[in-house]
Order: sequence, then structure tokens, then C-alpha cells
Amino acid sequence: MTSTTGTDLLSVDASRLLDHLRQLAEIGGDPAGGITRPGFSRAASLANDFVAGMARSRGLDARIDAGGNLLIARDGAAPARPTLLLGSHLDTVVNGGWLDGAYGVLAALESLLTLTEQETDLHTEVVVVAFANEEGALFPQPFWGSMVLAGMSDDLPAAPTDYNGNPLSAALRRAGGDLTNLPSAAWPPAILAGYLELHIEQGPVLADEGADVGLVDAIVGRTVLSVELLGVAAHAGTTPMRSRHDPLVAAADLTTFVHQLPDGGRNCQVATVGRLEVEPNSANTVPGQVRLTVDLRDVDPVRLNAASEAVRAHLHTLDRRYGTSHRCTLAVCSRPAVMAPHLRRAIAAAASDLGLRVRDMNSGAGHDAQIMATVTPSAMIFIPSIGGVSHVPDENSHDRDLVAGAQVLLHTVHRLVAR
Ligand SMILES: [Zn+2]
Repeated sequence: MTSTTGTDLLSVDASRLLDHLRQLAEIGGDPAGGITRPGFSRAASLANDFVAGMARSRGLDARIDAGGNLLIARDGAAPARPTLLLGSHLDTVVNGGWLDGAYGVLAALESLLTLTEQETDLHTEVVVVAFANEEGALFPQPFWGSMVLAGMSDDLPAAPTDYNGNPLSAALRRAGGDLTNLPSAAWPPAILAGYLELHIEQGPVLADEGADVGLVDAIVGRTVLSVELLGVAAHAGTTPMRSRHDPLVAAADLTTFVHQLPDGGRNCQVATVGRLEVEPNSANTVPGQVRLTVDLRDVDPVRLNAASEAVRAHLHTLDRRYGTSHRCTLAVCSRPAVMAPHLRRAIAAAASDLGLRVRDMNSGAGHDAQIMATVTPSAMIFIPSIGGVSHVPDENSHDRDLVAGAQVLLHTVHRLVAR
């Protein structure tokens, strides 16, 4: 600790934070392992109730907006004042981990509780947000809550359904929202003073390098191409090799091409074929059709676009090489999000005050911060993930890192909004 700024005594209540995290992890515990708390499920509502209850029991206001987001503010907070939002999400993937999202929300709550208990004089309001359905594990509309709050509800489907065809409208109503009134949940950008999100890294970089805190430069953009390779299904015994139009061989070629495309990061950061469906998928039939996805990520939109064009050009080469044809559609296109320099400086200064080692890094995973960055200056803080794993039951971080990250968040907020 090297601070001489009078914030030496400013500290989160570490045991309260860890208690809240462990209690929340019991909601949606899955007998098959990990936590299953998809957005707009009953477990997700119970998680909202738990966090809202913790906030109310300590004198804070908690409410659900029309999009199903949980918002927590100081009692009597003036709604028209400039507001710094702190948060993340409480929903999980199926059999996910206990920290992805939940940590950012509870550390944000801990920061607001600490500032409130210390009666810190704030020139900017601080509001904690738990965004609804960030993961999109049940309703395939990821970043739902942040898109609604950022005023992007026109970009969302008008009548969304879950993977089983059940309408979002009913699930959202049960969660306290209202599909017919989404624009009421949008915040005018003029009121927003910024957005901060604390999150586990979900990768191995910080732990491998012994750094305490990751300071995110940018969140990668993502392009997903949905590809169909079309050939001719035929008998595996009687069809001569020269007569075949085998789309699975084309798919193998494409998979290798995509794997080699990044070329040490020269063309794009990472590239993946992650899903393959073969028809008829029979041991004694030359396949007739293959569907697959190509996932490309980079922080530079120009390189991302070039990588996508390279894949499209290679598809034409495959048609000639294997006598197949193809269809290629753009399934996902999210732009890279650059984090705000003044918020990054505040985070770096807070971490330095606390004597922590900071490392600059990109985020290869998507976060609500990339949506918020389109309407207000945004930044992210990462802490190390043990083993670099996430979205699995083994997801974990050391208690000391969980507390240190929350301290960085609190001190950053204090630097930004305390008089
Ligand atoms: Zn997350």
C-alpha cells in the first residue's frame, strides 16, 4: 500500500463479499455440476431476488426495469443526476461457473454499500446493474439487458422465443419486466457518466504471468459465418473416388484453412470451426451436405473483415477443388469495442495505489461492456482465473484476487465520483 491520498482506509468488506458470492452460488446449483441459471429462468429471478434483498436490507433501493435488468441505487437517488453504472450479469450458461457475471455484480454492490456506509459525498450517482440474459443460454438473444438499457431494443427481435419456442414475453413478465414497454428501460446517454465492469478473465494470461489485475484495452469484435457445403450423397462402396462430390472433405479443408488463418495473429486474433453437422451422417454413405460455423475474432474491424473475405474466397476454391457448392451467411457481426482511456487511467491509478500489478490486455470474450461502450465511456477490470477455465463447473479464482479486484473497483469509483 503506497497511497497517501486519504483513501487508505477505504476498503470493501471482504468477508461480506465472499459470503454473498457463496450464497448466490447456491441458486441454480445443477446436480450435473456447476450452476445452471439461464436468463429469464426461475433460478435467474431467484438470483435477482437474492441480490435485491441484500441491497434493500442495507437501505438501498432495488427495482427491475422493463427489460428485466436489476438496478440498485442509493435510497432517494436523484434520477436526473449523471450516473456511473457498475455491473455485470447474474445469468449463466448451462453447467456454468459461479463467478462469471455474478462476481462483477456483487463486487459492484459491495462498492456501492461501502461508499454509502462511509457516507462518501458523490458528485455523480452510482447505480449497480445486473443485466438480464447476457449469455443467451435459454433465450438466444445474448446481451439482451444491456441492449435494452442502451436503447437498442429496435435491434432485438419483436417476438423472441427460447430454444423450445416459448415466448420471452411471458418469462420476462414473470421476471418483473414488460416486453411491450422496453423503450422505458433505455437510459438517455446524456445521463450516463460511464460504465465499469469487473469480471474474471476466463483465460490463462493473468495467472500465467503472475499479474494481479487485467486492464482491458478492447473487447474483440466477432464475425460468425454460417456455412453450408453441398455435395452429392452416394454409396460408400460403389461410388468411385473420381466420381465423388464430398462436402465433408471440403469441410475438412476449410477447417484446416480456418485454423491456419490467424497465422500468429497477422490476419486475425483467433479463428474457429466449432460446430459441424454432417448429413446423412451414416458410416456407409458419402455425405451429401455439411453445415458448419466459422467464428473469427479480432480487435481491428479491418482485419476482421479481411479474414471473413479470405474465408469466403476459400469457399469458392473448395467448390472447384471438390466439385461441391456452398451457401455462406453472416450469423453474427459484433464490432470491436475500445475501452475509454480516462476510465482505464483511473483503474490503473487505483491498482497502483493498492500496490497491485496490472497488465494491459484484450478481451477475447464478449461482455455487456461492449454494448455499453456504444452509448457511454466504458472500461473493464479482469482478475485471474485459476487454470484459465470458465463456463465450466471448475471455474474459480482465489479469494485474495476476488477481494483485490473489488478493491480496485471501489478505489476506481472513488477516484471518479467522490468530491
Ligand atoms: Zn460474463
